[in-house]
This record gives sequence, structure tokens and C-alpha cells, in this order.
Amino acid sequence: MKIRNWSIFCFIAGYHLLLLALLPLFIRTFSWPAAALFLATYVIGGMSITTGYHRLYAHKSYIAHPVFEWVVLLGSTLALQWSARIWAHDHRLHHAHVDTDDDPYSIKKGLWYAHMGWLFTYQRVFQPKYVRDLDKNPRVVFQDRHYLPLAIGVNAGVFAIGCLFMHPLAAFYAGFLLRVFMIHHSTWFINSLAHVWGSRTFARELSAVDNAVLAFLTFGEGYHNYHHAFASDYRNGVRWYHFDPTKWLLWTASKIGIVKGLRAVNRIHLQRTLVKKDKKLLMPLLNQYWDDMTSEIQTKLDELEESFESRAQSLMNRLGELKTASKARRRFIKLEIRRLKGELRATWKAWLELTEFTVERYHLTRDGGHI
Ligand SMILES: [Zn+2]
Ligand SMILES: [Zn+2]
Repeated sequence: MKIRNWSIFCFIAGYHLLLLALLPLFIRTFSWPAAALFLATYVIGGMSITTGYHRLYAHKSYIAHPVFEWVVLLGSTLALQWSARIWAHDHRLHHAHVDTDDDPYSIKKGLWYAHMGWLFTYQRVFQPKYVRDLDKNPRVVFQDRHYLPLAIGVNAGVFAIGCLFMHPLAAFYAGFLLRVFMIHHSTWFINSLAHVWGSRTFARELSAVDNAVLAFLTFGEGYHNYHHAFASDYRNGVRWYHFDPTKWLLWTASKIGIVKGLRAVNRIHLQRTLVKKDKKLLMPLLNQYWDDMTSEIQTKLDELEESFESRAQSLMNRLGELKTASKARRRFIKLEIRRLKGELRATWKAWLELTEFTVERYHLTRDGGHI
């Protein structure tokens, strides 16, 4: 690997070395306020990236009050990942060209490259068309223009506050070195491990995976396969029990009224998309693995897709009718909706069973070059 971005390399290598070199001194000066300082700055910095840089600026999955924007724009300087404008530019490129050479942190170039190697070699050709909307946001533009003084100011402020409650070395170690290390690696895990280690349910054709362990380390961003499939959804962990504190924070903020317009993919729409995607992926593969059951499976896939689609459409129509129907008719429509929901659930279950059976029977694995 040929290093091109020497200043970034020196900064990252430097703080890793300092982290090791100062560890014995930190252990001697450790105090509980130091642990609290680490935790507070880790959560504020990390969640400013996930709520702000990622879900607000890169994906526009909700609308935020300017006060909320200022909190995340300043809080994100604790993460030291450069400005929201640059971050969103690179991330939008990643989504638009995932797994190709135009993806700035493509996993195809290896785990190490996607994790942090790209930072040392990547020669950004800035394309303003990717951030036209952000260039109209004066807060984002301000943060981009004055990133360095803002970052120095916020980090120096945190250090000064830390010194009031603990040994200066502990404040520097826990409130800067360790915090930056932890936030950096958790963000980088999304580009590396979350494209390798986990399951692919929503977009089987992509390298991105869902992984609960990574979600725990990254404030909910580990459900990366879902995220690549439905990037504008404010949730990454789509089920209520998925560990996604970023989603919970945004939901709570929307109840308070400081953010609004949370975008969430409707469940029926989500399942419809998945059925279409699965079928498009499986049909040509089955032609390659022809045996005594292939045509039977293909017919079944056709039938199930058709019945899922027609039931989903009927359900959507009934839900639409409900809004304008008279009181007497509403009762009847509600019964119909209940029946259709039950049928749709059963069809969805049958679809999952059939596709899982097909994948297992023909060993259709992504590593084998397929799913
Ligand atoms: Zn990704
Ligand atoms: Zn994203």
C-alpha cells in the first residue's frame, strides 16, 4: 500500500502509539470521573455521527430543528471524521457504487483497506453534485469551512473540563485518545466487518450484512444489509427488538418535536420489494442448476409471488378505502383487512420457507459467486 495522505496517516498512527505508550501512566492516574468522561464523549461523538452525519445528512431520513443540527455538528467534532459535507459526499458515493472501484471504501479491495487503509491512500475527486442539497444548508457549510478551529475548540474545551475533575493525563487519555480510538474503529467496522461478517436478508446481491454484535458497538449501525437495501429509512435495526439506540433517540426526539418527518419503509412495501428481489435473483440461478425439482420450484416461486402481490395490492386498496368509507361499511372493510393480513402473513412465511429451501438445496452461496 502506497501512503498518499501522510497527515492523516501520521495522526492516526501517532494516537495509536500514544495510546500504548501512555497506558501505564493512565492506569496510575485512573479515576471514575475519567471513565465517565470517556463514556460521555464516546456516546456524544459516536451518536452525532450516526444520527447526524449518517442518517440526517447523508441519507435525509428525517428533518431536524436547527438546534438539533448544531448539537450534532459540534458533537461530531469529538469523532474527528472531518466535516459533515465531506463525510456525506464519500458515503453517498459508497451507496451509489457499493462493491465497485468507485466505492471509496470498497470491501472488494480487502478488509484492511475498507477498515482504514483507504484513509491513507484515497485521492478524493470531490463531486459537488453529490452534496448540492447540503450546500444549501448554512449550518453544514459553516461547519465545513471552519472544521479545524471548531474541532480544536471543542476538544480543548472537553480537556479543560476534564482537568477540573481528574489528573490532566487521565483527561487527555480517556477524554481524547481512547475516545477517538473507540469511535474511529466502530465507524470503520461498518465499512469493513459489516460488509463481511453476518447475514444478508434484504439485499442478497450486496456485500453488506446484518450483525447484532456490530450493532451493539456502533449505536445500531450494524444492521447494514437492511440499511443498504432501504437507505432512507431512519431505522437500521428494523424490528422493535433490534439494538439501534440511534433509532430510539430519533423516535424520542420526534415525540419532543425537535426532529420530524421520520422516514420508515412500510412493512408491506418492504416485503413486496424482497419478494421481487429474491425472485429476480433465484430464477436465473435455478436455470444453471437444472435438475428434477427445478421447474417445480420455479412454478411455485411464480405462484407465490403472484398471490403475494395480489393480496398486498388488495390490502393497500382496502386500507385506502377505509379512510373515506361510511360507518357501516368500515366494519366490513376492517374484517376484510384482518383476513387479508392473515393471508399475506401466511404467503410471506411460505415464501421465506421456499427461498430458504432453494438456497440450501442448491448451495447458493455468495462466496460461490452467487447469492
Ligand atoms: Zn456499506
Ligand atoms: Zn448509509
